[in-house]
Amino acid sequence: MITRRKFLTVSSASLVVAAVGPRGVAAAERPWYATLRRCGQLNLNERDPLTLDVGSWIDYWSSLKLNALLLNGGGIVAFYPTAVRYHHRSEFLGSRDLFGELAAETKAHDMRLVARMDCNYAYGDALDAHPEWFERNRDGSPRPHNESTWLYKTCMFSPYFTEQMPAIYREINGRYPVDGFFTNGWPSTGDLTVCYCGSCQKVYRDFVGGTPPDHVDATSALYRKYYDAYMERVLDVWRRWQAAVSETRPDSVYVGNLGGGIRTVKNVKRLGEVARWFNADHQGRSGDTVIWDCAQQGRVARAVMDDRTITNVTGAYSNSRPTWRHVAKAPAETTMWLAQTVASGMVPWFHWLGGAPEDTRWKEPGREFFAWLAKNEAHFRNRRSIADIGVLYPQRTIAFYRSGAEPRAWRGAERAQTADYLQGLYYALLEGRFVFDFIHEDDLRPETLRKYRALLVPNAAYLSDEHCRQIRGFVSAGGSLMATFETSRYSEWGDARPDFALADLFGAGVAGDIIGPVGNSYMRIERPHPALGNFDGTALLPGAESRVPVRARETAAAGSVPLTVVPYYPAFPPEMVFPRARRTDEPAALFHENGSSRIAYFAGDVDRTFWRSGNPDLGLLIQSTVRWLRGDVRAPVSLEGDGIVETFAWETGAGYALHILNYTNPNMTRGFIRRFYTIGPQKAEFTVERGRRITAVRALRAGRALRFTQDGDVVRFDVPSVTDYEVVALANS
Ligand SMILES: [Zn+2]
Repeated sequence: MITRRKFLTVSSASLVVAAVGPRGVAAAERPWYATLRRCGQLNLNERDPLTLDVGSWIDYWSSLKLNALLLNGGGIVAFYPTAVRYHHRSEFLGSRDLFGELAAETKAHDMRLVARMDCNYAYGDALDAHPEWFERNRDGSPRPHNESTWLYKTCMFSPYFTEQMPAIYREINGRYPVDGFFTNGWPSTGDLTVCYCGSCQKVYRDFVGGTPPDHVDATSALYRKYYDAYMERVLDVWRRWQAAVSETRPDSVYVGNLGGGIRTVKNVKRLGEVARWFNADHQGRSGDTVIWDCAQQGRVARAVMDDRTITNVTGAYSNSRPTWRHVAKAPAETTMWLAQTVASGMVPWFHWLGGAPEDTRWKEPGREFFAWLAKNEAHFRNRRSIADIGVLYPQRTIAFYRSGAEPRAWRGAERAQTADYLQGLYYALLEGRFVFDFIHEDDLRPETLRKYRALLVPNAAYLSDEHCRQIRGFVSAGGSLMATFETSRYSEWGDARPDFALADLFGAGVAGDIIGPVGNSYMRIERPHPALGNFDGTALLPGAESRVPVRARETAAAGSVPLTVVPYYPAFPPEMVFPRARRTDEPAALFHENGSSRIAYFAGDVDRTFWRSGNPDLGLLIQSTVRWLRGDVRAPVSLEGDGIVETFAWETGAGYALHILNYTNPNMTRGFIRRFYTIGPQKAEFTVERGRRITAVRALRAGRALRFTQDGDVVRFDVPSVTDYEVVALANS
């Protein structure tokens, strides 16, 4: 526990106490942001000083019962009369000190104030005076903003980040009662930028050994070194800014801008080690992004922050594609985003742009949700997740993977496919109504894994020797494991190994090059096995689109493999559609038992194929395998009923809470949700700690008590209906 958080060895004694963890630590000893539950943000524009009505805005935010409000301090535009040179004062500021007025009113309404900053762009006068502050193209030209072309991109490696930004923080800290600073846009969890300014050239020369490629390419030695140098710089700037903001205010906090959901390039585990507060700028979805995208963000952030502060921004505006900054998102979509935020253990941060809205439809949905949260606050103070299934979050595979099946540079949309393995597993777990957590691949320590019955590994192709050693340790301690496709085939940077590093666990070794992607291949059920569930009426299941040909390690297993491969044969024209090899002994899956440990390995990308094809057989196969992995150990939560839902189960300060998100909606995989489709009774069984007596069960969204029974440590109740979201609170004496 201490080791994991040793980064918090800071000057303030109170923070050191807080770093030990909240359990048993009085609230007074913890930093103010540790108990944050509700957050809001008004994002000002340069013209707002002309018209902004401070009183009515603070009244609105206050009505949301916020703990903290974010308001623009400066960076690109100063909303106060700054004395820092090249810190551009709003052209419309006049004699006003808008930030000062807002700060005073915010504090008068008993809300914490966080100054929202932007470190990413500055004006032409700064470019003229300090050319060294700015990013450069290969030809030396600066990089103007693509829309607001009079602004230029600043460079993270330059003194703008180590001198100019801290000077602004110090000025604001010296003048206004601020409790923290947040930077828009930086550092993000996305791609690295490659810049050709003097500072960067020096980094390339001294640390990288050459100019790195300008896109993700983990096969490049230069990219690998640049990745490390880049992460070091991010962490260094973060620490410096934390130090700068707390010079005169020990409990002040610096908050960077993270997010990215499941699609991250920068190492979120390392970012989580430096961040005292993780803000996910994951404001909404567009296109065919799935509705559970926000809950996934919560799982990623929890995996690296545990119970430290995590917020998620919900844009109240229409951040679809195209984007509209000044009209409201569909209220049902906004509500569902806020619901996922809190269900997954994050704190909601409600965000609007511009001080003079002509669309005010967003205000009431926010107020309603936040008022409901405030009323039930005790049930949203989570202590721990009670899930006993862990899903390995394969960060490096998502960031760097180049599948042997598709040997080309992954960029943009293509790289998004590296998350499809996880997405397929995720969807199977939702349909199977499992309660689970994400575990970051860099946190596979026994202390973390101990609480899990099973670890599910969706094609973590890139794993280090240490990762594999830790997974092996989990299995030898009795844990169960499911892994798919190329898991452990490569080092953490993608260097191919001669065989899976975990071949001993899988009971299978690589026997050839990847086959695929192809359709019209199959898996044949050779004999019943509990991991296969019950596929009455068929001997064939849809095959994985890509697979690693494998050979079972034990010769005794030959002929006893329950699921074998039927290789591809033409799908067109119909005259040609017949198997050339009806039967093989090539394993499509291997299942092993050793004491309480059960291991399932799928040689194909069944998870990704499930996601791409939507064929339910593959989902059912994954679900029956996960049930088999569990063995006789009872699931901590079971929920039966119709509908597609996502569930979270927490031990809370008041007892327990079961969160049910209703995704049963035609807009589940393409936004926005316009209305909800209520699902009927859900039958729940919830296992509580031995000896705990539940005294009341209440549906917080419906606002009614539920009848329940308790038999030993199992509490049973029916949830009559779920419209958008339900939180069932189990209170103990
Ligand atoms: Zn640079």
